[in-house]
Amino acid sequence: MKCPRCGGSLVLSPESTVTITFYDCPSCPWHFAQEPGQGLHDRWLSPLSIALYSQIFQKHPDQTAEANAKALLSQRPDMIAAILDEIDQEIESPTQRVSEIHDFKYANEDSLRIHLKLLSVALRRILWERSGTYHEGRRQL
Ligand SMILES: [Zn+2]
Repeated sequence: MKCPRCGGSLVLSPESTVTITFYDCPSCPWHFAQEPGQGLHDRWLSPLSIALYSQIFQKHPDQTAEANAKALLSQRPDMIAAILDEIDQEIESPTQRVSEIHDFKYANEDSLRIHLKLLSVALRRILWERSGTYHEGRRQL
């Protein structure tokens, strides 16, 4: 099986169980998981998994991005840069069904993807408001 991020060959992780299989990529830092009958997706603790954790019980994640942005900024400030990078990459070139990252009560792929897009907009806007010197372009240099 190929790594969806770098194309390297994935290695089966010894932590795999009957109900979930884990894969490691020797060529990049990513870890993946797969439940029987589902696709390969980010393993827990990836930036996207942390970004979507609060949405597991949300019926309308397309309406909760603003609240999640505020929660993430206060609870996981260390992860914001990685979360923004990962959302940009996943939207630009999808590597997985994000609705499989967690056991979502209302697993709606479209709605969760809208959440990610709006979340990135809300995070950037709040960061920009907090710092008059914040410029997205410069930050990435
Ligand atoms: Zn890889």
